[in-house]
Amino acid sequence: MLLSKFARINLAHRNTPLELMPRLSEHLGGPNIYIKRDDCTGLGHGGNKARKLEFILADAINRGADTILTQGAVQSNHARQTAAAAAKLGLKCELLLENFMLAPDSDYKNSGNLFLDHLFGAKVHYYPKDTDMGEALDAKAAQLSAEGRTPYIVPLGGSNVIGNLGYVDCAMEIIQQANQQQILISQIIHATGSAGTQAGLITGLRANQSDIPVLGIAVSTEKQKQEEKVFKLAQETATFLGQENVIKRNDIDVNSDYFGEGYGLPTDSMKEALSLVARLEGILLDPVYTGKAMAGLIDLVRRGIFSQNDSIVFIHTGGSAALFAYYKHLL
Ligand SMILES: *Cc1c(COP(=O)(O)O)cnc(C)c1O
Repeated sequence: MLLSKFARINLAHRNTPLELMPRLSEHLGGPNIYIKRDDCTGLGHGGNKARKLEFILADAINRGADTILTQGAVQSNHARQTAAAAAKLGLKCELLLENFMLAPDSDYKNSGNLFLDHLFGAKVHYYPKDTDMGEALDAKAAQLSAEGRTPYIVPLGGSNVIGNLGYVDCAMEIIQQANQQQILISQIIHATGSAGTQAGLITGLRANQSDIPVLGIAVSTEKQKQEEKVFKLAQETATFLGQENVIKRNDIDVNSDYFGEGYGLPTDSMKEALSLVARLEGILLDPVYTGKAMAGLIDLVRRGIFSQNDSIVFIHTGGSAALFAYYKHLL
């Protein structure tokens, strides 16, 4: 399948490595666990949004945008990568950030991703929890238009049919690397939030005749609801690609057992996963997404869900910049 008919700007370092985690695999005594290093996409401290922004910002430029608007949590990795991409492309960037912590401390409000947003020159606006952020974005866009600017709204997490092409592409990259390295992948596992990563991956796999199962570990939403969100986005993405009907409802699998009390709120299993992967592999996960997804993977291995011969691919979607904002909760 050719993606070259879609406008794209080079922002990410690709291909990202696909590597075995030998010491973690041995420690857990289960399947071979590989890691797809999408934390190494390069742009502004890396992460999964770089792949999506390659397609989204190409669209923004084609539409003559001069200002990029997006939303996220105060410690949003998506906002930070959008700010970096806008800086690289000479576009202005305004970020609408929602407070998700119950009692945000000064590190949460100033360090980590937020510090980097400022360094990339983005203008930051704050909103209380439970604001209608879609409405806030539209209002900000209207205000900028009235001032004579040309704003472009990047949706939450870059999850729309255009952004999801980044993960259709990643699926094809994984298939190619698995062939080159002779890895028979039994399962792909990653954190799912705004749902575009999982929607893009499953679309890319099924449209390329691969039946590898993908499990999304939810970071905030209950299973049924998150699966419906991924399913809808995957179907839309497949249709956008001219691949109607490649996605079946039972291709979509989400586990919501590992996010604890809610989005961005630390859990003990996340802390254990962070420290295991740091100490055994020298790899930094993050407290909001990959730490919780890895906690899920570790628990599933301990429960004996996988066989010794299985090869699991964990997608490291990035986020370690947030470690500094959360460090007091992680010690
Ligand atoms: C945004 C993000 C995710 C989730 O990806 P979605 O496409 O929003 O589901 C996972 N991990 C990290 C580190 C992220 O920043």
